[in-house]
Amino acid sequence: MKKNWQTVVIVGAQWGDEGKGKVTDFYAKQTDYVVRFQGGNNAGHTIVYDGKVLKLHLLPSGVLHSRNKVVIGNGVVIDPKVLFKEISKLKKMGIKINLLVSDRAHLIFPFHVTMDAAGENLSAKKNLAALSTNRGIWPTYSDKTGRVGIRVIDLVNPQIFKKKLDLLFEIQKKKLSAIYNHRGKLDKQKIYRQYQLYAKKLKKHIGDVSLELNQALAKGKKVMFEGAQGAMLDLDHGVYPYTTSSNTTVGGACTGTGVPPQKIDKVIGVAKAYLSRVGGGPLPSEQKNSIGDKIREIGGEYGTTTGRPRRIGWLDLVQLRLAKRVNGLDSLAITKIDVLNNFEEVKVCVAYRVGQKVIKEMPADLSIYEKCRPVYRSFPGWKIQDTTNKKQTSSKFQITNKSQIPNYKQLPQNMRKYLEFIEKEIRVPIEMVSIGAEREATIIK
Ligand code: GDP
Repeated sequence: MKKNWQTVVIVGAQWGDEGKGKVTDFYAKQTDYVVRFQGGNNAGHTIVYDGKVLKLHLLPSGVLHSRNKVVIGNGVVIDPKVLFKEISKLKKMGIKINLLVSDRAHLIFPFHVTMDAAGENLSAKKNLAALSTNRGIWPTYSDKTGRVGIRVIDLVNPQIFKKKLDLLFEIQKKKLSAIYNHRGKLDKQKIYRQYQLYAKKLKKHIGDVSLELNQALAKGKKVMFEGAQGAMLDLDHGVYPYTTSSNTTVGGACTGTGVPPQKIDKVIGVAKAYLSRVGGGPLPSEQKNSIGDKIREIGGEYGTTTGRPRRIGWLDLVQLRLAKRVNGLDSLAITKIDVLNNFEEVKVCVAYRVGQKVIKEMPADLSIYEKCRPVYRSFPGWKIQDTTNKKQTSSKFQITNKSQIPNYKQLPQNMRKYLEFIEKEIRVPIEMVSIGAEREATIIK
């Protein structure tokens, strides 16, 4: 396991919601910079600290550690309204933030949000692509690749901003009415004025992220790159089109910040001990039964903003193999293993059966993926003794103080067997096991 590193990338190894917030929070203690490199406010980290719950959608979780400069890279799409809301929420909590926003990041506008919702209503799209979060993410990435997007730097030059907004507004208005049959009013002048106000507030935070990070690295500073969503949602390597609109895997950290690949020292993949996903698409190890229901209840697997129940399945090593390969994972952080406490049997999907064939890698062809059936390896479950009241706990370790956190060897033998099987099959060491939502409930192996 790599102990010496100057840069570390933390990525989701499944479908997002793996519990990355806690892992990034743990690493942020050791770094000087915490950087987001892709996605937008469609992400959501939950950090539980001192009994308080902090939810962030756009800012990196490093904000809780005052030594960190927090950075939003060029690969991120920014809704300024959300950004300022998060900043003022932190201010109210007494948290000071040292923020750098890339001059090259693209901006989300209200018509992107409208387009997002209008796109969802297109009946032809309904069963063909991932559910959207309705935050304007895909329309903004779409404009970026179409080269009509507006970048943060454009905000601070009112003439250029006006010219670009005129063009983009015209395009979006036509698209909305012709394709999406949108009849609502869009007020260009209002948007212009509002974004000029944002420009004033944002100005002091805007800078060249690539330049600053590379200079910081040359001075020996430590940097953590904080991924959002997960490998299976990667625009290129995930289960397209049931993906997000950005590269959630490690390459995204380079393109999304301007830090070259040679400077990435360590990559950690975060995976739950089971899996969950939101939206459509094939999911071979899905448990649409009482097991899935039990995991969903104990694990609280409901959408943070939507409240929608997430789909649940047993851990899928075929999927994890892809996450390992594309990311070059150096280690794994396994979270929410406490959710599996007190199950008679725990299963892991090790391969897929398609007709007569057994495959160990994910097919690109979704019509084949639909037909994949899981090949399971079964493990005996483990029971957890609650040290506080000597009863079997239903879900997690009852952690009331730090001294109750077991070390790795004190974990139930069957749990360790399960973890060590994953390590052996994926050929990646597990460096962290999370046994509860609390900051302290983290075991370093
Ligand atoms: P992200 O989308 O990957 O950043 O996921 P979050 O960081 O928001 O985590 C999802 C939820 O899982 C949050 O409510 C966390 O507090 C919770 N969580 C994280 N790790 C654990 C764990 O080991 N056990 C339990 N029971 N909950 C956890």
